[in-house]
Amino acid sequence: MSELAHGMLAGLAEIADTGRDSRRGGYSRHLWQGADLELRAWFALRAERLGLSVETDRNGNLWAWWGEPGPDAVVTGSHLDSVPGGGAYDGPLGVVSALEAVARLRASGFTPSRPCAVLVCAEEEGSRFGIACLGSRLLTGGIDADRARALIDADGITLAQAARRAGLDPAHLGADRDALARIGLFIELHVEQGRGLVDLGRPVAVASSILAHGRWRLTVTGQGNHAGATPMEDRRDPLVAAARAIVAVQDATGGHPGARATVGRLEVVPGGTNVIASSVHAWLDARAPTDAETRDLVAAIAAAVGEAAQVNGCSVAVTEESWTGTVTFDPELVGRFRSVLGADALVPALPTGAGHDAGVLAASVPSAMLFVRNPTGVSHSPEEFAEVGDCVAGIDALETLLRSLL
Ligand SMILES: [Zn+2]
Repeated sequence: MSELAHGMLAGLAEIADTGRDSRRGGYSRHLWQGADLELRAWFALRAERLGLSVETDRNGNLWAWWGEPGPDAVVTGSHLDSVPGGGAYDGPLGVVSALEAVARLRASGFTPSRPCAVLVCAEEEGSRFGIACLGSRLLTGGIDADRARALIDADGITLAQAARRAGLDPAHLGADRDALARIGLFIELHVEQGRGLVDLGRPVAVASSILAHGRWRLTVTGQGNHAGATPMEDRRDPLVAAARAIVAVQDATGGHPGARATVGRLEVVPGGTNVIASSVHAWLDARAPTDAETRDLVAAIAAAVGEAAQVNGCSVAVTEESWTGTVTFDPELVGRFRSVLGADALVPALPTGAGHDAGVLAASVPSAMLFVRNPTGVSHSPEEFAEVGDCVAGIDALETLLRSLL
């Protein structure tokens, strides 16, 4: 990433070594843990050097204000946390581009006619507490505060405890009407998590919609026992049931064009080589073009998982952990952005299967997204990439939009 150090993307170069994951590759930057804390401090320093005033809201989201905070502010940003072993661009590209676009406007002597802020949303990936876009969901009231406070991480630490350690008052987690009321409009720039722009041969797109999506925990319960002393016919092995269930998950998408279903995480309890598991937690991520199709898909999966459990003498419980209906970004805003950025053909409007804070915020405030071409089409992986020239095109587009809105 050294070529970035001297260019517009110095910000990405500055954080290139923060949170590297030597075991998985890529980056592991999880809410309020070492790398995330370093990135938060880095952001505050960077923003303050630009002359912005930084504050942390009641839910751990960071705001850097140009001028007096809200109302009717133009807010732009993304997130700094990552999935386990994630790429360098998912999240940070939007934050760095927002800071750079504001820096350019300030350097040119531009005077905004309304407030402007750069926003860093907390726990966008849900890698620590399991709920994606947790910071924006808390901010908008999209998740019940009591439920959020009780969420636990892999070490058994609750969100309430982690928030306290991070200097927040856990009693104040939850819907923050005052903070939300300041946002007039939100724009999130993000690396594309697919090949839409590669196929179109364009560097930048405006987002049109986000697939409905959610997370469900499948808990398969059997009987823990001795791996040597228990004959095969006497077993109620939840991991065998879970394995069949995972195959069933893939099969269930067959009747749903455009649907995606994934089990990317398993927890085997107790997890010993010579122990038949007593229970298995498998997390399902399911997405489809409409809310109804997604609900149908999950119902079909739950039925198939139940059957797989029954065949193996196990039981299964399905718990919905998060849900976001299909997001259609405001057509007027999308149209306006495309006309500001040039002819329609130059800046395509693309749908995405990936969830974003902009999708959560869209339920409360007008929101829009810009995508920057990712030549690998791969994301949530160290292979995620964006050419410097395309990143600069993204910053150019964001600067143009801010100039037209402010
Ligand atoms: Zn992201």
